[in-house]
Amino acid sequence: MPDKGERVIMLADCQSFYASVEKAEHPEYADKPLVVAGDPERRSGIVLAACPIAKAYGVTTAERLGEALAKCPSLVVVKPHMQNYIDVSMQITNIYTSYTDLVESYSIDEQFLDVTGSLHLYGTAEELARIIQRRILSETGVYARFGISGNKILAKMACDNYAKKSDLGIYTLPKSNLAGLWKLPVNNMFMAGSRMTRHFHAMGLSTIGQVAETPLSKLKQMMRRKFGKNSDIQAELYWRIANGIDNSPVTPGTHGTDPQSVGHMMTLPRDYATLADIKVVLLELTELVCQRCRGLGYMGNVISVACMGADFERPSGFSRQMKMEEPTNITNQAYRAACKLLERHWDGLPVRKVGVSVSQLSSDEEYQLSLFDLDKEKFKALERATDMIKRKYGDASIMRAVSKTSAGQAIDRSAKIGGHYK
Ligand SMILES: [Mg+2]
Repeated sequence: MPDKGERVIMLADCQSFYASVEKAEHPEYADKPLVVAGDPERRSGIVLAACPIAKAYGVTTAERLGEALAKCPSLVVVKPHMQNYIDVSMQITNIYTSYTDLVESYSIDEQFLDVTGSLHLYGTAEELARIIQRRILSETGVYARFGISGNKILAKMACDNYAKKSDLGIYTLPKSNLAGLWKLPVNNMFMAGSRMTRHFHAMGLSTIGQVAETPLSKLKQMMRRKFGKNSDIQAELYWRIANGIDNSPVTPGTHGTDPQSVGHMMTLPRDYATLADIKVVLLELTELVCQRCRGLGYMGNVISVACMGADFERPSGFSRQMKMEEPTNITNQAYRAACKLLERHWDGLPVRKVGVSVSQLSSDEEYQLSLFDLDKEKFKALERATDMIKRKYGDASIMRAVSKTSAGQAIDRSAKIGGHYK
């Protein structure tokens, strides 16, 4: 159990999430090594998720499919079904919310739960984790692991360092006993990526405990030498993580279901070299993003456009953002702003990757209805109608005439979501 008087926080993480969802859908693959890969037809595609059997062959997430197949020729390769993963993620969130209303999405397959208030109904924290774990497995086929502690940072480190490696998939790391955690190499610390780990090593800090036991003022000094004056906040962040200090609440709707931005990026099948061609893709992406905003009930205040060239050795392109005239989720309005950004910042070089996102989101409900702007209401009604048709009959059922040109990607993409195949 976590310490008395502390909150009881869990971080639940789904094992090999995409791969598990695929296996649940296809029982015939249950005992086979399986990966979900970006583009199964191309060996250069990336492995997005690998099931535990595939991992036992040495297959890892983010490697090239070709490399994975070399390690495991019998690999079952499945293309991603993002809509499915989102649906199952929501289903799992719903299971969590039947035990506590304090559920915060950290990613599509990781959620924080504050069960302090409801625990007495179920027994110990471990018993409750077991109940939830069994239920998720039987209802979705996904195996979830639970890190438990008195705050989010320790729950996360309990899950990553212990629960994932334990047979039960459940581990409690009480704040009063961090001795074991402190012995771990510093790269096991939450937020310590490979670059930061190298920096810690260069500072003579090789375990989590060594970071924790360095007086904060000294750690700040050490980091200033490396990163300059502005690194104090970072120093304090790492110091607090190492010491397991975190008072942040589990806040429903701060991630995932309540995103900071809604965006979409796609890689094009060939270079787009003319402004007109790029604008076609830009419109489609803006439409997709606005449609998603409307579905979620958001408007965005800021629009961002990114264009990148095909030559990754010599990067070209731009990524810029601007405030729109007013918060909106109307495609035409957002598209006008996106075009401005493109016209202003495009360097004229061929483009292979285009992204659009809107941020500074606010609720659709708070829409400042302008009585003099009836056009906007008409647009909104029109777009609500087209969204409905698309939901019912698929994205290809209705689209802007411009998408029928050779540059149009929407027809091809109607089979995909999130740049992935459906
Ligand atoms: Mg996971």
